[in-house]
Amino acid sequence: MHPTTDPTTIGTPGQPWGPAEKAQWRALQTRRRSYEDEVASKIRALGDRFDIAAYGELDYAPDGRYPLLAVLSRDWDERLPCAVVTGGVHGYETSGVHGALQFAERHAATYVGKINLLIAPCVSPWGYERIHRWNPDALDPNRSFRAGSPAGESAALLDLVAPLRGKVLVHIDLHETTDSDETEFRPALAARDGKPYEPGEIPDGFYLVDDSEHPQRGFQAAIIEAASKVTHIAPADARGEIIGSPWDRWASARASPARATSPPPRSIPTVRAPRRNSATTPRPPRCVQGSTTPWPTRPEPPPSSGARTLYAFRHRPGRVPCINT
Ligand SMILES: [Zn+2]
Repeated sequence: MHPTTDPTTIGTPGQPWGPAEKAQWRALQTRRRSYEDEVASKIRALGDRFDIAAYGELDYAPDGRYPLLAVLSRDWDERLPCAVVTGGVHGYETSGVHGALQFAERHAATYVGKINLLIAPCVSPWGYERIHRWNPDALDPNRSFRAGSPAGESAALLDLVAPLRGKVLVHIDLHETTDSDETEFRPALAARDGKPYEPGEIPDGFYLVDDSEHPQRGFQAAIIEAASKVTHIAPADARGEIIGSPWDRWASARASPARATSPPPRSIPTVRAPRRNSATTPRPPRCVQGSTTPWPTRPEPPPSSGARTLYAFRHRPGRVPCINT
C-alpha cells in the first residue's frame, strides 16, 4: 500500500472518524485519471444516437465540478418497459463504468422499439478519478440510496429514476471485485468506523447478488449461463459462501457442469443483498443543479411489487478486487 494513501494511520484506533479525520483522509486522495476524458466525453459522443441527460452536477471544490450524465433511448416510448443499467456507483470499479459505456456504444441500439433504456455509466465521478469507493465525504454511495441521502451521487440518481417507479423491468448495477479491497478499502472502512479489520476472501470470477426477499433464480441462472460463455464463474469459498453469503450452487452448477454432483436442493439458498448502512447522519446533497428530467409524463405510484436490483460483478484478470458490494 502506498504510504500516503494509508487510511489506517488516520484517527484513533477503535474510534469512528469525525469531520477532522475525514478531511485528513480526503486530503490524501489524489486525482489519478480523468472522468472528462475517459467517461463524460464518451457519453456525450453517444448524443448522435441517444438522448443524453445531464441529471445533476456535483460541486466538490476545490477538486472541481462533475457533471452527472445518463444515456437514454431516443424516442422514449411510454408503452414499453424500462431497463436501467448503472456503473461506477463505486467509482473505483472500472469495469462497470466501461462495461456500461460499451453496452451503450455497441448493443443498446438493438433494443430500439423493444424496451426503453436508461444507462448511467458512472454514478461516482469523483471516486472514478481517485480510484476510490467513497465520495469526498468518506461516504459509500451504495449505502446511501435513501430519501434525504447525504451522498449527492445517490440523491441525484434517485431523483433521475423516481419518475420511472413501477416501470423498470430490470436494473443491472455493475460492480467489480478488486484486489485492493483487502489491502486498502476494507481496512479503510474499519478505520473510518472504528472497528477491527477482519480479513475476507475475494471471489475469483463473475457472480451475481440476488434480492433475498424477491429472488429471481431463473433469471439469475440465465445470466450466469450467458456470462460463463465469456468468463469464468466464481466458485464458493471454503465456507460455501461468496462475500459472506450463501452460494447458489444450482445456478453456478448449470454454468459449470463439473460441479453438479447432485440435483438442486428443494430450497435453494440465495445470495443476500448487502445490508445497507443507515447510521450516517443525513445532510443536504451537494447536487447543485436540478435534474433535466427527460420523462414526458408524471410519475406513477409504486406498485406492490417493484423492480429488482441485481449486482453484477466482473473480475478482471490481473486487477482483482471489492468485497462490499
Ligand atoms: Zn461495488
